[in-house]
Amino acid sequence: MGIEERIQNQVLTATLERFVNWARKSSVWPATFGLACCAIEMICTAANRFDIARFGMEAFRASPRQADLMIVAGTVTKKMLPAVIRIYEQMPEPKWVIAMGACACSGGIFRSYAVVQGIDRHLPVDVYIPGCPPRPEALLYGILKLHEKIRKDPFLTRKEGPVRVPADVERIG
Ligand code: SF4
Repeated sequence: MGIEERIQNQVLTATLERFVNWARKSSVWPATFGLACCAIEMICTAANRFDIARFGMEAFRASPRQADLMIVAGTVTKKMLPAVIRIYEQMPEPKWVIAMGACACSGGIFRSYAVVQGIDRHLPVDVYIPGCPPRPEALLYGILKLHEKIRKDPFLTRKEGPVRVPADVERIG
């Protein structure tokens, strides 16, 4: 067998981007926090029936500095918003955001002065999961969609999008 044939048969080649993205999507670690009822479904997703560990994601991190995924699971009140933004800012790049449930996506049933009408007004959301609450299967589906996005991320040429933090965020808090 010639050297060229041997290389073709026994060596896998890939671009750096594809390899890094494969590693990233296979070990996304969510930050441990929940805001309301949707968080109960998120917790169920980590239990053995739904088994988020299949995707290398069972390590919910108590420190945002060790997390690269924020699952906004529940109602975001304006009182809570500064804390949510601070957690996001403490997470290292690259990082991703899932808006889980109607409240996180759009304020849900709470058309109230006290509730943020969609966390995407303040953070760059990658995946929206509708439902009140979404079932664990829906969260897993959203996670798989996020994996697809990470797999195609052209991070070598990507420009970071702006994080929209409102100027009056401290006053709101
Ligand atoms: Fe609760 Fe429904 Fe809002 Fe989820 S979307 S936090 S279940 S009210």
